[in-house]
Amino acid sequence: MMRCILSWIGLFLLSISFLCFVLLAPPVRPVAQPRRAVHGKNEPVVVVLDPGHGGKDSGAICGAVMEKELTLDVAMRAELLLRSAGYTTLLTRDSDRYLSLAERAAVGNHERNSLFVSIHFNDGERAAASGVETYFAVRQSAMSPGIFAWLPFLRPAESKPLLAKSESLARFLQAALVERTRAVNRGIKSEQFYVIANVRHPAALVEGGFITNPSDLTKLATAEYRQQIASAISDGVERYREVLSPNEPTLAWAAPAE
Ligand SMILES: [Zn+2]
Repeated sequence: MMRCILSWIGLFLLSISFLCFVLLAPPVRPVAQPRRAVHGKNEPVVVVLDPGHGGKDSGAICGAVMEKELTLDVAMRAELLLRSAGYTTLLTRDSDRYLSLAERAAVGNHERNSLFVSIHFNDGERAAASGVETYFAVRQSAMSPGIFAWLPFLRPAESKPLLAKSESLARFLQAALVERTRAVNRGIKSEQFYVIANVRHPAALVEGGFITNPSDLTKLATAEYRQQIASAISDGVERYREVLSPNEPTLAWAAPAE
């Protein structure tokens, strides 16, 4: 009888110790997988090209030349070059159709990681005005306005690096434009153009020449010159991506030699 009681007590203690072992054992932690570092141009990015105007909105017009046709032509040429360089690209429009500025910005914002290049041509009040210039926005909507309304303190932290990236993108595009076209360098400028100010990714707006300048217009009428502008956009994007490293955000400030 005593032996029976002892064996039951033994079995009971064995069960308790087994339960303690199971319950108190440290949880098995998943082994952390080393994350594959993706740097610079190898980080997946969608290059959004935005041919300005379209459809009922012709943009600047001089004689038979319409800005909306030049912008689409250059954007399609730039897309081919960027694709052959291995980039994923998106056009906000690929035909002569009207798109609102909000619809254009939405194309860029729909992507998790994109950069946005809007393509335009200038018209000047003076026919003498000539050359190329690139714009960036000093204030961009880094997050949706609704979130800022609730958490306004987020805005400066989010906007500063984005501004640096957009300015850097504009600088590289402008340097490539001048290098490729040898046009008058009107520099980079900041302006709150809706289409770049409302993109939540690095964004710049290129003005590839003056439709109202006889010399610029003669050049813009040739496919060869439009190809040079497209090559400059592709070069500028590639150089910007080359210096951009997620671990060293300050590199985005890097400026090309002028
Ligand atoms: Zn325009």
